[in-house]
Amino acid sequence: MENSIDKYQPVIGLEIHAQLSTKSKAFSSDSAEYGELPNSHISAITLAHPGTLPRLNKEVVNFAIKLGLATHSEINKYNIFARKNYFYPDLPKGYQISQHTGPVCSNGSVTIKNKSGVKKQIGLIRIHIEEDAGKSMHDQDPEDSLVDLNRAGVPLLEIVTKPEIYSSEEAHLFLSEMRKLLRYLEICDGNMEEGSMRCDANISIKKKEDEKLGTRTEVKNLNSFKNIRSAIEYEIQRQIELIESGNRVKQETRRFDAHSGKTFVLRSKEQADDYRYFPEPDLSPVVISAEWIEQIQRQMPGLPEELYEKYVNQFGLSHYDAVVITETKEIALYFEELVMHTSNYKSAANWVTVTVKSYLNELGIGIHEYPVSPVKIAELINMIDNQLISNHIAEKQIYPLMLTHKEKMPGDIAKEMNLLQTNDTGLLNELVEKAIEKYPEKILEYKNGKKGLLGLFVGEVMKLSKGKAEPKAVNRLVLEKLEGN
Ligand code: ADP
Ligand code: MG
Repeated sequence: MENSIDKYQPVIGLEIHAQLSTKSKAFSSDSAEYGELPNSHISAITLAHPGTLPRLNKEVVNFAIKLGLATHSEINKYNIFARKNYFYPDLPKGYQISQHTGPVCSNGSVTIKNKSGVKKQIGLIRIHIEEDAGKSMHDQDPEDSLVDLNRAGVPLLEIVTKPEIYSSEEAHLFLSEMRKLLRYLEICDGNMEEGSMRCDANISIKKKEDEKLGTRTEVKNLNSFKNIRSAIEYEIQRQIELIESGNRVKQETRRFDAHSGKTFVLRSKEQADDYRYFPEPDLSPVVISAEWIEQIQRQMPGLPEELYEKYVNQFGLSHYDAVVITETKEIALYFEELVMHTSNYKSAANWVTVTVKSYLNELGIGIHEYPVSPVKIAELINMIDNQLISNHIAEKQIYPLMLTHKEKMPGDIAKEMNLLQTNDTGLLNELVEKAIEKYPEKILEYKNGKKGLLGLFVGEVMKLSKGKAEPKAVNRLVLEKLEGN
């Protein structure tokens, strides 16, 4: 059994549903707000009363174009909607409006990077627009299932990858890259716990040397990164064991049970859904013009991928620093502003990835609540670089005061606290005298050839100056004194 795992290549394709953060629903003006009182955003249109007609929310198309541009997709000019018919208690219309034949985006790609920064492109088959169903709740009442239709009609983008993901690790990387993108674009909050990003995983295995893909199973509705990884790993193992024991994998839809960590059959291919797709007769086609795309292009924010490349290639930052800084748009924007005021990129990256991040982590807050503006951190960095203050003084004395005195610039704090480094020769010479007087026996040792003692005297002067002496000047004065005597 040991080698059997190595014989196989897992193949995974993901289908991600991203709930769009528009104000209103996809085809009505009902609010799309999450977490409101159940069944409070359900006009006659959401409830599909006879005679009601859908009307497309243009913002949904704007969001689709944004994601299309961000994933280097081809954007479909002529878009029609289709009805996907099925019966379910939380689907008042009896169908979802979706796109069937011509998705709004196709042939895009997303680049993932592993821990060592090695890149891999994952292709996207399509991204299409659809509306969400309502929510059935089976655990709220001992007797009955309850239905909340607030979610019915909320817009979604369904993102379908090519079968180019080869491990649970890669699936995880892809999903977090996709979530980052959705958040940078501000089109979906990416919150898996609240269900605003959900994932189905198609999983198969094949012998490494085989060209042809194996039979896949589809695990539905995975709602956390942990569950996605566990479900994929469980399925790979289950399929390998099936094949190794002379059985075959059946094409079926499965669900993942987080408690047992196992997947169970929901329905087999024989019972496959027939959605009886047909073009939605109540909506006219949406024509996406070149001007429309250009207009969206102009509103595109800097994306994590471009920023990462800039930080690594132009700023010379490490893979790790670039990843940490681009993790969220807010941190990246903070860093972008910081480097507008200092060109010491490495130092700026250090302040953000170490000092700022640890403050945020400690208090469990986002950077929008961080009390120190980028301009002030930049001034601090520049003061260190211009040898006005030492690193130590900056970190241990000035920075803590910047956290509590939002109104003050670091330069003001340094002056008020009398912390500016000094190379005033008169003052420094006094301190050198003191340091030398303190260790008369060491002077002899120095003169007898123990030159390393220079550091002791320099250190003593630094201490006497409370870290404010400019180290180069001290070094020079101490040397003059010792050699001259
Ligand atoms: P369907 O329309 O039946 O859902 P698609 O061709 O649209 O089928 O594929 C759905 C998802 O399944 C895609 O993410 C695709 O990459 C993935 N997929 C297709 N074949 C396989 C396979 N043999 N193994 C793993 N994933 C697969
Ligand atoms: Mg499918």
